[in-house]
Amino acid sequence: MQEFIRKFVIEELDHDFGEIPLSALDDAAIVDGIAFTTDSYTVKPLFFPGGDIGVLSVAGTVNDICVMGAKPLALSCAMIIEEGFSEEDLQRIVKSISLTAKSADVRIVTGDTKVVENGAADGLFINTSGIGRRSDHLDHNIQMVRRSREFKPNWPNDSSVGPGDTIIASGSIGNHGIALLSFREGYGFDTVVHSDAKPLNSLIEDALKIGGITAMKDPTRGGVANLLNEWAEKSHVGIKISEEALPIDDEVLTACEMLGIDPLEIGNEGKVLMAVVPSMADEVLSTIRSRPEGRNAAIIGEVSKEFSGVMMETHTGGKRVVEPPVGDPVPRIC
Ligand code: MG
Repeated sequence: MQEFIRKFVIEELDHDFGEIPLSALDDAAIVDGIAFTTDSYTVKPLFFPGGDIGVLSVAGTVNDICVMGAKPLALSCAMIIEEGFSEEDLQRIVKSISLTAKSADVRIVTGDTKVVENGAADGLFINTSGIGRRSDHLDHNIQMVRRSREFKPNWPNDSSVGPGDTIIASGSIGNHGIALLSFREGYGFDTVVHSDAKPLNSLIEDALKIGGITAMKDPTRGGVANLLNEWAEKSHVGIKISEEALPIDDEVLTACEMLGIDPLEIGNEGKVLMAVVPSMADEVLSTIRSRPEGRNAAIIGEVSKEFSGVMMETHTGGKRVVEPPVGDPVPRIC
């Protein structure tokens, strides 16, 4: 998919426009100081333990704005509705959109609705776009980075991770994908796993107030494995993580073992990974942990210039290369 997009979409478009352009393939573009992003949601089923397509469509776009160090301002919402779709379900989803937007302090200011014939959409698809302006705390954050090392970028982004940085995960990984998969396929595990779908803007604002963050990204499609490989490739660094340190809930781990899925490759919708200069890492971590959605946050690894790619120290003390996922272990989860 990445290769196809690069070759047949991005090459054809004016891909170097803006401070963070399309060609950077980052979470959002930065144009004239404005963070701008878009995402389409085709999750199946529309309602699942811990959330629904409405929560996802707001949280996903809000999170892609705030990982750039921007404060989300306003969203668009476009719905493609299959003819005959339940009015009651639509009302529930719009309610979810409204509540999630309120909780993230953003407003839906424009939108579109299209009804298509039976079979042309699987119930409901949603697209949201969003804009955000530079966070009031981003300059302070970057100043704190510059006390530790040289740092040229004006925004934290995929290519601004540096050797020595500490990698923090904001909470347990894998919950969203496993919640979707086990609910959809009806595996009936003893414990119901809930999705983590949630806007992360206030957690990220709190972390920026502390400062020292060099990059942030939400481990959505392709999970932590994909995220770390993108950072390693775009920042020309190596990233070493520790299996022991990875926060994973027991029920998620059990489900992954039974289904033969690598928790590192599962998409999350309410988690962020941060690269932080080491002198600030403990303070950023304790700030994240003081919030309910960040209570399982952990330092999971560090950045090195000694190798390239992503490597994991396993439980048994061995080392394994963490490859970017081939294909999608759990499709249609967002
Ligand atoms: Mg993202």
